[in-house]
Amino acid sequence: MKIAVVAVQGAFIEHIHALKKLGVECVEIRKKSDLCQDIDGIILPGGESTVQSKLLRELDIFDELKKRIEEGLPVLATCAGLILLAEELSNDERSHLKTLPVVVKRNAYGRQLGSFTAKEMFKGIGAFPMRFIRAPFIEEVADAVEILAEVDGNIVAVRYKNQLGTAFHPELVDDTRIHEAFLAMV
Ligand code: GLN
Repeated sequence: MKIAVVAVQGAFIEHIHALKKLGVECVEIRKKSDLCQDIDGIILPGGESTVQSKLLRELDIFDELKKRIEEGLPVLATCAGLILLAEELSNDERSHLKTLPVVVKRNAYGRQLGSFTAKEMFKGIGAFPMRFIRAPFIEEVADAVEILAEVDGNIVAVRYKNQLGTAFHPELVDDTRIHEAFLAMV
């Protein structure tokens, strides 16, 4: 099994560490041709979604990535990655890959609560330490979207077909169960 990690900006190295811990082969996606190899799944890391989107376009990765996800390539998207997948952003006119039928609010917790950890239930896994950093949450989901976790009544993790999205950073905690759940999807 080979998992790609989009490595144009943000916390990609932490995902690679989590995958290596699980004995999985990883490749970094930095240019369009990196997407031509055989990959079984892809991770979109946290970081700054506007910067990531701009770089993905400039590096000519954007359209191929969108196509591969629409064709069914399994994807795990965390924080900024989730923002990139969302069909709509409630507080930003720009949306990006638009493959996930949800409405996401960027920086949803405001400045006061820039960063925090909550241990809450994740469907199929149990209590999980969820690390939020200037995080979004999900405000609306289409009927076919499965809600996997909520914190204080806000949706923070979903699955839709081949797409798994979390508003928090599973790669920043010492618990690989969400990566394992993604690998099981692959
Ligand atoms: N606030 C960032 C954004 O809007 C996301 C933060 C993160 O990925 N930790 O893209």
